[in-house]
Amino acid sequence: MPPVEEKTIFEKIINGEVPADIIFENDIAVIIRDINPQAPIHALIIPKKRIDRIEAAQNGDAELLGKLLIMAKDFAKSHNLTGFRLVINNGQQAGETVPHLHIHLLSGRPMAWPPG
Ligand code: AMP
Repeated sequence: MPPVEEKTIFEKIINGEVPADIIFENDIAVIIRDINPQAPIHALIIPKKRIDRIEAAQNGDAELLGKLLIMAKDFAKSHNLTGFRLVINNGQQAGETVPHLHIHLLSGRPMAWPPG
């Protein structure tokens, strides 16, 4: 997929231009509640750096990507979640709708496998 030049909804949320239910924020990322939850707990871990999708990540993003996973497991621990699923949708066929990398954290119900 080609890079998208205009600001995404997530950049607007990060910049404070659009309100969102921000659960946590640090220097590298925000965690927000998904506006259309697919499970009782559905959070999005969003890096402040614009990376369109995981296929656009560079070797230099490795530390950032690792930190996002650490944030996800810290979120799970702080919310006493023992079962949770992390999802990254890459490309339209996989269900990507916002071209700004983010990790879905889903929990609070049984999860089927394979996913839909
Ligand atoms: P994806 O389809 O993997 O790109 O995920 C994008 C997610 O962003 C979807 O689950 C949407 O429900 C969610 N989303 C879109 N706009 C907002 C918003 N303004 N606040 C919170 N979540 C949003």
